[in-house]
Amino acid sequence: MSNKVINLGIVGVGKIVRDQHLPSIAKNSGFSLSATASRNASVDGVQAFSDIASMLEACDIDAVALCMPPQYRQAAAQLALKSGKHVLLEKPPGATVSEVEQLAELADKHGVSLFATWHSRYGAAVDVAKALLSEQRLKSVALVWQEDVRKWHPNQQWIWQAGGLGVFDPGINGLSILTHCLPSPAYVTSADLIFPANKAAPIAANINFKTVDGVDISGQFDWRATGSEAWNIDFETDQGLLQIKDGGARLLLNNEDVAVAEHSEHGEYEAIYTRFADLIQRGVSDVELAPLKLVADAFLLANREEVDAFND
Ligand code: NAP
Repeated sequence: MSNKVINLGIVGVGKIVRDQHLPSIAKNSGFSLSATASRNASVDGVQAFSDIASMLEACDIDAVALCMPPQYRQAAAQLALKSGKHVLLEKPPGATVSEVEQLAELADKHGVSLFATWHSRYGAAVDVAKALLSEQRLKSVALVWQEDVRKWHPNQQWIWQAGGLGVFDPGINGLSILTHCLPSPAYVTSADLIFPANKAAPIAANINFKTVDGVDISGQFDWRATGSEAWNIDFETDQGLLQIKDGGARLLLNNEDVAVAEHSEHGEYEAIYTRFADLIQRGVSDVELAPLKLVADAFLLANREEVDAFND
Protein backbone atom coordinates (compact mmCIF):
# COMPACT_ATOMS: atom_id res chain seq x y z
CA MET A 1 0.00 0.00 0.00
CA SER A 2 1.22 3.52 -0.73
CA ASN A 3 1.73 6.05 2.03
CA LYS A 4 -1.73 7.60 1.56
CA VAL A 5 -3.84 8.48 4.59
CA ILE A 6 -5.84 5.48 5.82
CA ASN A 7 -9.58 6.14 5.93
CA LEU A 8 -10.81 4.48 9.09
CA GLY A 9 -14.22 3.38 10.33
CA ILE A 10 -14.81 2.67 14.01
CA VAL A 11 -17.40 0.08 15.03
CA GLY A 12 -18.89 0.09 18.56
CA VAL A 13 -18.53 3.60 19.94
CA GLY A 14 -18.27 3.13 23.70
CA LYS A 15 -15.94 3.79 26.61
CA ILE A 16 -12.63 2.69 25.10
CA VAL A 17 -13.30 4.51 21.83
CA ARG A 18 -13.88 7.81 23.64
CA ASP A 19 -11.10 7.32 26.21
CA GLN A 20 -8.35 6.11 23.88
CA HIS A 21 -9.10 5.51 20.19
CA LEU A 22 -10.38 8.99 19.31
CA PRO A 23 -7.49 10.95 20.90
CA SER A 24 -4.91 8.51 19.50
CA ILE A 25 -6.33 8.65 15.95
CA ALA A 26 -6.48 12.46 16.15
CA LYS A 27 -2.72 12.53 16.87
CA ASN A 28 -1.82 10.18 14.01
CA SER A 29 -1.60 11.91 10.62
CA GLY A 30 -1.63 8.50 8.92
CA PHE A 31 -5.32 8.03 9.74
CA SER A 32 -8.48 9.93 8.98
CA LEU A 33 -11.62 8.97 10.88
CA SER A 34 -14.18 8.68 8.07
CA ALA A 35 -17.20 7.07 9.75
CA THR A 36 -18.57 5.23 12.74
CA ALA A 37 -21.00 2.32 13.00
CA SER A 38 -22.75 2.11 16.34
CA ARG A 39 -26.36 1.44 17.28
CA ASN A 40 -26.70 4.16 19.91
CA ALA A 41 -23.70 6.46 19.64
CA SER A 42 -21.79 8.66 17.22
CA VAL A 43 -18.82 11.04 17.14
CA ASP A 44 -19.37 14.75 16.49
CA GLY A 45 -18.56 15.72 12.92
CA VAL A 46 -18.13 12.14 11.68
CA GLN A 47 -20.59 10.29 9.38
CA ALA A 48 -22.60 7.89 11.52
CA PHE A 49 -24.20 4.57 10.63
CA SER A 50 -26.04 2.12 12.83
CA ASP A 51 -24.26 -0.98 11.54
CA ILE A 52 -21.05 -1.95 9.79
CA ALA A 53 -22.73 -3.24 6.62
CA SER A 54 -24.31 0.13 5.80
CA MET A 55 -21.08 1.94 6.69
CA LEU A 56 -19.03 -0.25 4.32
CA GLU A 57 -21.58 0.17 1.55
CA ALA A 58 -21.76 3.95 1.80
CA CYS A 59 -18.16 4.92 2.58
CA ASP A 60 -14.78 4.60 0.92
CA ILE A 61 -13.03 3.09 3.91
CA ASP A 62 -9.62 1.35 3.98
CA ALA A 63 -9.69 -0.06 7.51
CA VAL A 64 -11.95 -0.63 10.49
CA ALA A 65 -11.32 -0.70 14.25
CA LEU A 66 -13.73 -3.14 15.91
CA CYS A 67 -14.33 -1.95 19.47
CA MET A 68 -17.57 -3.66 20.44
CA PRO A 69 -17.53 -6.44 23.10
CA PRO A 70 -15.70 -9.60 21.97
CA GLN A 71 -18.83 -11.77 21.61
CA TYR A 72 -20.09 -9.54 18.80
CA ARG A 73 -16.88 -8.98 16.85
CA GLN A 74 -16.45 -12.05 14.63
CA ALA A 75 -19.29 -11.39 12.16
CA ALA A 76 -18.22 -7.77 11.72
CA ALA A 77 -14.59 -8.80 11.23
CA GLN A 78 -15.55 -11.41 8.66
CA LEU A 79 -17.60 -8.91 6.69
CA ALA A 80 -14.85 -6.28 6.76
CA LEU A 81 -12.11 -8.72 5.70
CA LYS A 82 -14.24 -10.13 2.88
CA SER A 83 -14.82 -6.53 1.75
CA GLY A 84 -11.05 -6.04 1.51
CA LYS A 85 -10.68 -3.84 4.61
CA HIS A 86 -7.80 -3.97 7.08
CA VAL A 87 -9.07 -4.82 10.56
CA LEU A 88 -7.96 -3.82 14.04
CA LEU A 89 -9.44 -5.94 16.85
CA GLU A 90 -9.73 -4.56 20.40
CA LYS A 91 -8.60 -6.97 23.09
CA PRO A 92 -9.49 -9.77 23.63
CA PRO A 93 -9.54 -10.33 19.85
CA GLY A 94 -12.63 -12.53 19.97
CA ALA A 95 -14.76 -14.81 22.08
CA THR A 96 -12.97 -17.98 20.93
CA VAL A 97 -9.52 -18.97 19.71
CA SER A 98 -10.79 -20.75 16.60
CA GLU A 99 -12.82 -17.78 15.33
CA VAL A 100 -9.77 -15.53 15.47
CA GLU A 101 -7.54 -18.11 13.78
CA GLN A 102 -10.09 -18.31 10.98
CA LEU A 103 -10.12 -14.50 10.70
CA ALA A 104 -6.33 -14.57 10.29
CA GLU A 105 -6.70 -17.03 7.40
CA LEU A 106 -9.38 -14.83 5.86
CA ALA A 107 -7.12 -11.77 6.08
CA ASP A 108 -4.35 -13.68 4.28
CA LYS A 109 -6.79 -14.84 1.61
CA HIS A 110 -8.00 -11.31 0.93
CA GLY A 111 -4.55 -9.70 1.11
CA VAL A 112 -5.38 -7.35 4.00
CA SER A 113 -3.90 -6.83 7.47
CA LEU A 114 -5.48 -8.14 10.66
CA PHE A 115 -4.17 -6.74 13.94
CA ALA A 116 -5.11 -8.41 17.23
CA THR A 117 -4.15 -5.66 19.66
CA TRP A 118 -2.91 -6.12 23.23
CA HIS A 119 -2.68 -2.54 24.51
CA SER A 120 -0.92 -3.42 27.77
CA ARG A 121 2.09 -4.69 25.83
CA TYR A 122 2.83 -1.04 24.97
CA GLY A 123 3.09 -0.01 28.64
CA ALA A 124 6.28 1.99 29.27
CA ALA A 125 7.95 -0.71 31.40
CA VAL A 126 7.09 -3.76 29.34
CA ASP A 127 9.78 -3.93 26.66
CA VAL A 128 12.45 -2.81 29.15
CA ALA A 129 11.42 -5.69 31.43
CA LYS A 130 11.39 -8.14 28.52
CA ALA A 131 14.95 -7.16 27.54
CA LEU A 132 16.22 -7.52 31.14
CA LEU A 133 14.49 -10.89 31.58
CA SER A 134 16.10 -12.23 28.42
CA GLU A 135 19.47 -11.98 30.24
CA GLN A 136 18.35 -13.49 33.57
CA ARG A 137 17.48 -17.00 34.70
CA LEU A 138 13.87 -17.14 35.80
CA LYS A 139 13.02 -18.94 39.06
CA SER A 140 9.31 -18.19 39.59
CA VAL A 141 6.62 -15.67 38.64
CA ALA A 142 3.59 -14.32 40.51
CA LEU A 143 0.90 -12.31 38.72
CA VAL A 144 -1.70 -10.42 40.75
CA TRP A 145 -4.48 -8.60 38.87
CA GLN A 146 -7.13 -7.33 41.23
CA GLU A 147 -9.52 -4.40 40.95
CA ASP A 148 -12.98 -3.22 41.88
CA VAL A 149 -15.39 -4.24 39.11
CA ARG A 150 -18.01 -1.74 40.25
CA LYS A 151 -15.53 1.10 39.74
CA TRP A 152 -14.10 0.04 36.37
CA HIS A 153 -17.02 -1.68 34.61
CA PRO A 154 -20.27 -0.01 35.69
CA ASN A 155 -23.32 -1.09 33.64
CA GLN A 156 -21.32 -3.40 31.37
CA GLN A 157 -23.64 -6.39 31.22
CA TRP A 158 -21.78 -8.08 28.33
CA ILE A 159 -18.76 -8.56 30.57
CA TRP A 160 -20.72 -10.93 32.84
CA GLN A 161 -22.26 -12.89 29.99
CA ALA A 162 -20.81 -16.00 28.36
CA GLY A 163 -17.86 -14.94 26.21
CA GLY A 164 -17.47 -11.67 28.14
CA LEU A 165 -14.58 -13.23 30.11
CA GLY A 166 -15.53 -11.77 33.49
CA VAL A 167 -12.44 -11.09 35.58
CA PHE A 168 -10.27 -12.08 32.60
CA ASP A 169 -11.40 -8.98 30.71
CA PRO A 170 -8.78 -7.02 32.71
CA GLY A 171 -6.82 -10.16 33.64
CA ILE A 172 -5.96 -10.93 30.03
CA ASN A 173 -4.03 -7.65 29.97
CA GLY A 174 -1.74 -9.10 32.65
CA LEU A 175 -1.44 -12.31 30.65
CA SER A 176 -0.60 -10.31 27.53
CA ILE A 177 2.33 -8.70 29.37
CA LEU A 178 3.38 -12.02 30.91
CA THR A 179 3.40 -13.95 27.63
CA HIS A 180 5.26 -11.09 25.91
CA CYS A 181 8.00 -10.99 28.57
CA LEU A 182 8.50 -14.68 29.32
CA PRO A 183 11.63 -16.09 27.70
CA SER A 184 9.78 -19.38 27.00
CA PRO A 185 6.09 -20.25 26.49
CA ALA A 186 3.77 -21.13 29.36
CA TYR A 187 0.83 -23.49 29.71
CA VAL A 188 -1.94 -23.91 32.30
CA THR A 189 -1.49 -26.68 34.88
CA SER A 190 -4.53 -26.03 37.10
CA ALA A 191 -7.28 -23.48 37.56
CA ASP A 192 -10.02 -22.54 40.01
CA LEU A 193 -12.71 -20.22 38.66
CA ILE A 194 -15.16 -18.51 41.01
CA PHE A 195 -18.60 -17.66 39.60
CA PRO A 196 -21.30 -15.60 41.33
CA ALA A 197 -24.55 -17.59 41.35
CA ASN A 198 -26.21 -15.05 39.01
CA LYS A 199 -23.39 -14.60 36.46
CA ALA A 200 -22.08 -16.62 33.50
CA ALA A 201 -18.52 -15.32 33.83
CA PRO A 202 -16.06 -15.58 36.73
CA ILE A 203 -15.51 -12.85 39.31
CA ALA A 204 -12.21 -14.33 40.48
CA ALA A 205 -9.72 -17.00 39.48
CA ASN A 206 -6.54 -18.68 40.64
CA ILE A 207 -4.47 -20.25 37.91
CA ASN A 208 -1.17 -22.11 37.97
CA PHE A 209 1.02 -22.15 34.90
CA LYS A 210 4.40 -23.65 34.03
CA THR A 211 6.84 -22.61 31.37
CA VAL A 212 8.23 -25.24 29.04
CA ASP A 213 11.50 -24.75 31.01
CA GLY A 214 9.73 -25.82 34.22
CA VAL A 215 9.30 -22.39 35.87
CA ASP A 216 6.17 -22.14 38.06
CA ILE A 217 3.85 -19.17 37.61
CA SER A 218 0.90 -18.29 39.83
CA GLY A 219 -1.92 -16.05 38.66
CA GLN A 220 -4.41 -14.43 41.01
CA PHE A 221 -7.30 -12.53 39.45
CA ASP A 222 -9.98 -10.82 41.54
CA TRP A 223 -12.71 -8.30 40.78
CA ARG A 224 -13.77 -7.90 44.42
CA ALA A 225 -10.80 -5.74 45.50
CA THR A 226 -12.27 -2.53 46.82
CA GLY A 227 -9.33 -1.18 48.85
CA SER A 228 -6.28 -2.98 47.47
CA GLU A 229 -6.18 -2.79 43.70
CA ALA A 230 -3.08 -4.25 41.98
CA TRP A 231 -1.94 -4.90 38.43
CA ASN A 232 1.48 -6.42 39.09
CA ILE A 233 3.81 -9.21 37.96
CA ASP A 234 6.78 -10.29 40.12
CA PHE A 235 9.60 -12.21 38.44
CA GLU A 236 12.09 -13.95 40.80
CA THR A 237 15.32 -14.45 38.89
CA ASP A 238 18.96 -15.38 39.57
CA GLN A 239 19.59 -11.62 39.90
CA GLY A 240 16.82 -10.89 42.39
CA LEU A 241 13.32 -9.49 42.03
CA LEU A 242 12.06 -7.76 38.86
CA GLN A 243 8.59 -6.25 39.22
CA ILE A 244 6.26 -4.85 36.58
CA LYS A 245 3.70 -2.68 38.35
CA ASP A 246 0.66 -0.55 37.58
CA GLY A 247 -0.37 -2.57 34.55
CA GLY A 248 2.96 -2.14 32.75
CA ALA A 249 3.71 1.49 33.61
CA ARG A 250 6.38 0.92 36.31
CA LEU A 251 9.46 -1.28 36.65
CA LEU A 252 11.33 -2.11 39.86
CA LEU A 253 14.58 -4.05 40.22
CA ASN A 254 15.25 -5.32 43.73
CA ASN A 255 12.72 -2.79 45.04
CA GLU A 256 14.38 0.19 43.30
CA ASP A 257 12.47 2.05 40.57
CA VAL A 258 14.06 1.75 37.12
CA ALA A 259 13.62 4.80 34.87
CA VAL A 260 11.43 4.06 31.85
CA ALA A 261 10.28 6.42 29.11
CA GLU A 262 7.43 8.73 30.10
CA HIS A 263 4.20 7.67 28.41
CA SER A 264 1.32 10.03 27.82
CA GLU A 265 -2.19 9.15 28.96
CA HIS A 266 -2.80 7.70 25.49
CA GLY A 267 0.67 6.23 24.92
CA GLU A 268 -0.44 2.61 24.59
CA TYR A 269 -3.10 3.38 21.97
CA GLU A 270 -0.89 5.83 20.09
CA ALA A 271 1.59 2.95 19.76
CA ILE A 272 -1.22 0.65 18.59
CA TYR A 273 -2.21 3.01 15.75
CA THR A 274 1.44 3.51 14.75
CA ARG A 275 1.79 -0.27 14.53
CA PHE A 276 -1.50 -0.70 12.64
CA ALA A 277 -0.33 1.77 9.98
CA ASP A 278 3.00 -0.05 9.76
CA LEU A 279 1.33 -3.47 9.34
CA ILE A 280 -0.90 -2.08 6.58
CA GLN A 281 2.08 -0.46 4.90
CA ARG A 282 4.03 -3.74 4.97
CA GLY A 283 1.03 -5.85 3.95
CA VAL A 284 1.25 -8.18 6.97
CA SER A 285 -0.92 -9.23 9.95
CA ASP A 286 -0.17 -9.51 13.67
CA VAL A 287 -2.38 -12.10 15.35
CA GLU A 288 -0.67 -13.44 18.47
CA LEU A 289 -3.10 -15.45 20.58
CA ALA A 290 -1.08 -16.74 23.57
CA PRO A 291 -3.07 -14.72 26.18
CA LEU A 292 -6.43 -15.85 24.78
CA LYS A 293 -5.25 -19.49 24.64
CA LEU A 294 -4.23 -19.40 28.32
CA VAL A 295 -7.65 -18.06 29.31
CA ALA A 296 -9.40 -20.65 27.12
CA ASP A 297 -7.29 -23.43 28.66
CA ALA A 298 -8.11 -22.18 32.17
CA PHE A 299 -11.80 -22.54 31.32
CA LEU A 300 -11.11 -26.07 29.94
CA LEU A 301 -9.24 -27.24 33.02
CA ALA A 302 -10.99 -25.35 35.80
CA ASN A 303 -12.60 -26.46 38.99
CA ARG A 304 -15.71 -24.33 39.32
CA GLU A 305 -16.75 -22.75 42.61
CA GLU A 306 -20.06 -20.91 43.03
CA VAL A 307 -20.35 -17.98 45.44
CA ASP A 308 -23.22 -15.68 46.43
CA ALA A 309 -24.94 -13.67 43.71
CA PHE A 310 -23.13 -10.41 42.87
CA ASN A 311 -25.11 -7.26 42.15
CA ASP A 312 -23.22 -4.47 40.45
P1 NAP B 1 -18.66 -0.68 26.09
O1 NAP B 1 -18.51 0.78 26.24
O2 NAP B 1 -19.59 -1.41 26.99
O3 NAP B 1 -19.07 -1.14 24.61
C1 NAP B 1 -18.58 -0.59 23.44
C2 NAP B 1 -19.71 -0.39 22.46
O4 NAP B 1 -19.99 -1.61 21.79
C3 NAP B 1 -21.04 -0.01 23.10
O5 NAP B 1 -21.09 1.34 23.41
C4 NAP B 1 -22.05 -0.44 22.06
O6 NAP B 1 -22.32 0.64 21.16
C5 NAP B 1 -21.35 -1.56 21.34
N1 NAP B 1 -22.02 -2.82 21.71
C6 NAP B 1 -22.37 -3.22 22.95
N2 NAP B 1 -23.05 -4.39 22.88
C7 NAP B 1 -23.12 -4.70 21.58
C8 NAP B 1 -23.71 -5.75 20.88
N3 NAP B 1 -24.43 -6.70 21.50
N4 NAP B 1 -23.60 -5.79 19.55
C9 NAP B 1 -22.94 -4.81 18.90
N5 NAP B 1 -22.36 -3.76 19.52
C10 NAP B 1 -22.45 -3.71 20.85
O7 NAP B 1 -17.23 -1.40 26.23
P2 NAP B 1 -15.77 -0.81 26.25
O8 NAP B 1 -15.36 -0.58 27.65
O9 NAP B 1 -15.61 0.28 25.25
O10 NAP B 1 -15.00 -2.13 25.78
C11 NAP B 1 -15.06 -2.60 24.45
C12 NAP B 1 -13.84 -3.48 24.20
O11 NAP B 1 -12.66 -2.72 24.49
C13 NAP B 1 -13.80 -4.71 25.13
O12 NAP B 1 -13.32 -5.81 24.42
C14 NAP B 1 -12.82 -4.31 26.21
O13 NAP B 1 -12.13 -5.40 26.78
C15 NAP B 1 -11.85 -3.41 25.44
N6 NAP B 1 -11.16 -2.45 26.30
C16 NAP B 1 -11.85 -1.67 27.19
C17 NAP B 1 -11.16 -0.82 28.05
C18 NAP B 1 -11.86 0.08 29.03
O14 NAP B 1 -11.19 0.74 29.82
N7 NAP B 1 -13.18 0.17 29.03
C19 NAP B 1 -9.76 -0.78 28.00
C20 NAP B 1 -9.11 -1.52 27.04
C21 NAP B 1 -9.82 -2.36 26.20
P3 NAP B 1 -23.77 0.78 20.49
O15 NAP B 1 -24.80 0.42 21.54
O16 NAP B 1 -23.84 2.22 20.08
O17 NAP B 1 -23.79 -0.18 19.34
